[in-house]
Amino acid sequence: MRHSYINFFNNKSEESGVIKSDIDFSSVAGLDEIKEELLEISDFLDKPEKYKNFGAKIPSGVLLYGPPGTGKTLIAKALAGQCKATFIYASGSEFIEKFVGIGASRIRALFEKARKKAPAIIFIDELDAIGVSRNTDNNSERDQTLNQFLIELDGFSDNSGVVVMGATNRIDMLDKALLRPGRFDRHIFVGNPSAITRREILKYHIKNKPIAKNFKIDSVVEKTNGLSGAHLANIVNESALLAIRKGKKTINNEDFDKAIIKTTAGLKNKSMVLSNKEKRIVSFHEAGHTLISFLLNGILPDKVTIVPYGVSLGFVLSSFGEDKMILTKNELEDKICILLAGRASEEIIFGEISTGAQNDILKANELAYSMVCDYGMSKYKNKIFPGDKNNFLKEDIEHEISNILDNAYEKAIGLLNENSNVLNLIAKTLYKKEDLNASDLEKIFHMALI
Ligand code: ADP
Ligand code: ZN
Repeated sequence: MRHSYINFFNNKSEESGVIKSDIDFSSVAGLDEIKEELLEISDFLDKPEKYKNFGAKIPSGVLLYGPPGTGKTLIAKALAGQCKATFIYASGSEFIEKFVGIGASRIRALFEKARKKAPAIIFIDELDAIGVSRNTDNNSERDQTLNQFLIELDGFSDNSGVVVMGATNRIDMLDKALLRPGRFDRHIFVGNPSAITRREILKYHIKNKPIAKNFKIDSVVEKTNGLSGAHLANIVNESALLAIRKGKKTINNEDFDKAIIKTTAGLKNKSMVLSNKEKRIVSFHEAGHTLISFLLNGILPDKVTIVPYGVSLGFVLSSFGEDKMILTKNELEDKICILLAGRASEEIIFGEISTGAQNDILKANELAYSMVCDYGMSKYKNKIFPGDKNNFLKEDIEHEISNILDNAYEKAIGLLNENSNVLNLIAKTLYKKEDLNASDLEKIFHMALI
């Protein structure tokens, strides 16, 4: 009998269908934290009884999110190999059809197959294609598909030995229903690799290639900030082709330099690869956010990075306070202060400011505006100014907004100056390592404070 859903899907993607994964985690360079988190899942699949006996539910859905080419598919496939589970690959776009009901029936078939082949990992690439937020358009085929998908996810409470993994680079577009507990409730960010990870990925891909004796890997690492694992694999391949074309016996740095130029020239957003000067600015900028956020909240961010992602050149990822329903006036002022701390740090260190803070400034302005106009937190006490502000108070309102912003900025400058040794240490370490997690930061604070 033919596999019914190799039939179903192979018209759109060659990779679709049931695959016996022939790789394990040794094929994924770096990304140790992600591997560790996923190994727990491998244990669920391996010994479901252990969890059943404790009445513990295994996580049914794991969402890998981040830019393309960062190894999300690779990790999922390697995990399947690692725990000897069947790997079932599908792309979200395969479920989007013109005719109502077809997508839904494909989803049903997919899960049916997985249950039969358990232990199994279903990996759905481009999850956003099925999981895009409803209400954005009225598309009953898509709604049916998504509903069927939710039903299948909910049917997993019986420890069926199936884990669903999804990948997307648009987590913000996903329907909230998908992210609820019991569905895709584990979210793992897979970002562009830091310097250390880039080095490991490069090492992995040059492993079986003839490399010149005087090859300097660090020079390649330095020139590839902002590029993904897929870019790096491509660069290694290009440099090999260049060396072959020239009739050489080994690949050297010159070949790599050319391959980097070739690869980055084709990128839509060339600015993603930062120069060293830009890297210095972004390091101090992010260090500013991090330090002020720690000083005001006492909480270390989960992650700080200067590896570009999307339109942002660097960012601080903090789960703290994100889901708060109400904020006090003080908390709002602190938020504004943290937002402005990136620019404040640039001003202190470089004596000038940059466009890198554009998004922070926008958000800070919006918050200050809301404080005055929506929340009644200005000198007008509980008076709010909804709608059109083109009235005789306009200037006064703007003055109030400016006051809030100025005070927050001054506070940031003051705190950063008082703690300039920590600021410097964070920025320097960030420049070198490109990614810092909470425990790295803890060490830095510890070092700077003794
Ligand atoms: P995504 O699913 O995130 O778009 P893929 O998993 O398809 O990315 O990765 C594309 C290719 O990039 C991989 O097949 C591999 O060659 C390379 N790659 C990405 N990350 C790594 C890594 N951590 N180690 C080794 N190779 C990697
Ligand atoms: Zn910023």
